[in-house]
Amino acid sequence: MERLAEITAGIFVATTDLYTTTSTVVAAGEGGCLVIDPAVTVADLAGLAADLRALSLTPLAGFATHPHWDHVLWSTELGDVPRYASVAAAATAERERARLIEGVGQEAPGHDLELFGRLTALAEGADTLPWTGPAAQIVTHRAHAPGHSAVFLPESGTLVAGDMCSDIEIPLLDLEQTDPVGDYLAALDLLRALPVRCVIPGHGGIGDAAEFRRRIEADLAYLDGLRAGRDPADPRLATEWLAAEHARYAAAIQAGQIA
Ligand SMILES: [Zn+2]
Repeated sequence: MERLAEITAGIFVATTDLYTTTSTVVAAGEGGCLVIDPAVTVADLAGLAADLRALSLTPLAGFATHPHWDHVLWSTELGDVPRYASVAAAATAERERARLIEGVGQEAPGHDLELFGRLTALAEGADTLPWTGPAAQIVTHRAHAPGHSAVFLPESGTLVAGDMCSDIEIPLLDLEQTDPVGDYLAALDLLRALPVRCVIPGHGGIGDAAEFRRRIEADLAYLDGLRAGRDPADPRLATEWLAAEHARYAAAIQAGQIA
């Protein structure tokens, strides 16, 4: 695991070996902080807690970008604080708890399941995080997972994107929804309208403003190709499991299950 590093004033990112997963910490001043998507193994979370102690940062709140097992983790060491999520994300984590527990048990066993997936829903329609730190805009959409939310920090222009805007992963669709491609395109529109100077994807490398634009364009090109029935020339498809995902989407399009 790459230890927690300050990427811009008051914003820290740790990146784990498993799926190149990022955890983001936003300092609030006076020793408090927000922890977004702490991940991913038990050892990674222990390392994150140790880094926070070394930086004299104490979590005041958490945020889960979306209801997938690798984004709803927590540990006792991170403290007993509200872990916010959108209304739809919190409800989905509750409803799909058995499936999430199965996922974490297979991929990163040993977490405290009492703490796993215990999210506090933001007020319906809330678009800012209720905390005392730097303003944090919550941008909720339906791409990839129900209630998926990016956190945008306007002071630094930092976008914590959740499972979008990745340099290593193609757009990952939620095929259980009725219009997964349409949902994804709508979400890209929301994100691209933000004055992003730094993007932190849930999996992958951090990018600057130009790289953010490049990733948005790459994702649009991928989805365009998918809809048109072309095999997109996307270097991210060199990864085996992503090629398999792509084949699943292409089959769903061809079968008329999605458009
Ligand atoms: Zn996800």
